[in-house]
Amino acid sequence: TESLATRDPELFGSIQNELGRQRDEIELIASENIVSAAVMEAQGSVMTNKYAEGYPGRRYYGGCQYVDVAENLAIERAKQLFGCEFANVQPNSGSQANQGVFTALLQPGDTILGMSLDAGGHLTHGAKPNQSGKWFNAVQYGVRQQDSLLDYDQVQALANEHKPKLIIAGGSAIPRQIDFARFREIADSVGAYLMVDMAHFAGLVAAGEHPSPFPYADVATTTTHKTLRGPRGGMILTNDETIAKKVNSAIFPGIQGGPLMHVIAAKAVAFGEALRPEFKIYQQQVRKNAVALADQLMKGGLDIVTGGTDTHVMLVDLRPKGVKGNATEKALGRAHITCNKNGIPFDPEKPMVTSGIRLGTPAGTTRGFTEVEFRQIADWIVEVVDGLAANGEEGNGDVEAAVRAKVAELCKAFPLYPNL
Ligand code: PLP
Repeated sequence: TESLATRDPELFGSIQNELGRQRDEIELIASENIVSAAVMEAQGSVMTNKYAEGYPGRRYYGGCQYVDVAENLAIERAKQLFGCEFANVQPNSGSQANQGVFTALLQPGDTILGMSLDAGGHLTHGAKPNQSGKWFNAVQYGVRQQDSLLDYDQVQALANEHKPKLIIAGGSAIPRQIDFARFREIADSVGAYLMVDMAHFAGLVAAGEHPSPFPYADVATTTTHKTLRGPRGGMILTNDETIAKKVNSAIFPGIQGGPLMHVIAAKAVAFGEALRPEFKIYQQQVRKNAVALADQLMKGGLDIVTGGTDTHVMLVDLRPKGVKGNATEKALGRAHITCNKNGIPFDPEKPMVTSGIRLGTPAGTTRGFTEVEFRQIADWIVEVVDGLAANGEEGNGDVEAAVRAKVAELCKAFPLYPNL
């Protein structure tokens, strides 16, 4: 009966401060979003108490009749959202979704072909420090020097040379739509499985604002917390019954134990929200906002990798202003605009420095920002970056303070979680 505030004021304070940060600052991290109060209510529910190893109707514990309802809702809604036959909603994260597919389809030592981290891929696609790069013979493709677009010819050439068992399409910093049909052709030419990791753009796919991995992919993985706007977690989708069975065994008992039933309940809520017509309008706005943000940044003298975006994400090349990604992330942070430094393709700087920042519109769009607000935000970004360009790493304190004040005003006009 004791509230968190009285039982654990120290921890409660950290949550209140985080709520304040989210309310008062502009979130431009492309992989983040702002979930509904209903999603949080489900995630904060009694379902956190329940062990439910196994799958609905086939559990290793008693008393699963109600969590079964939640998991079945999540599964059925996921299938409807993505137009596919099978969904496993138990992966605890995007990384574990990928690990689940690898466990289902591969043996240690098998060859996989994925996009390299420095070209926009994800760690779990075969990067050296990740298990995927240690347990498998990971070959990596990238983007073209001339236009930073995905190098399909290189994918084909590497596939011919290395004969991968699995090819991975998708990544964490890919601003353009991916040609899944082309990937399918390449996979077929060498007899490889095709896995699409749509973690970043799954929400766009669900809303018909990005081509679907199906029918091209053998299997698709995703996070549920990015554009899809659900709780943190992962999911695996397929139309192939044999793969579905292998995936189910790979997630449990292969790599996970008891599923996070409170998170699965929250996934069901989020998928239900994504099936509503408003979600399509939201995703359309996410894309329009991204185009506006990119355009206004270019007008301010910054480069955008590939010259723009057709998704929710863009990579800003800071080199025209002579500033670095790490200093820019910090300066924007001082102005209460949150983003992350990010290497650009063929970046001459080290990963902890970088020549770029990655920006995305999902969180701001959820808040209610339209093109008008995003163009305004772009102008503020340019002001802060110009302050860095003129003054070095310290930036221009007056400009940063002025932007911070304007950010506060904008955030007040678009309140977040008014009932918390
Ligand atoms: N796959 C892609 C393409 C991602 O961008 C991410 C997250 O950044 C992941 C997988 C991993 O997701 P998680 O952070 O939930 O493990």
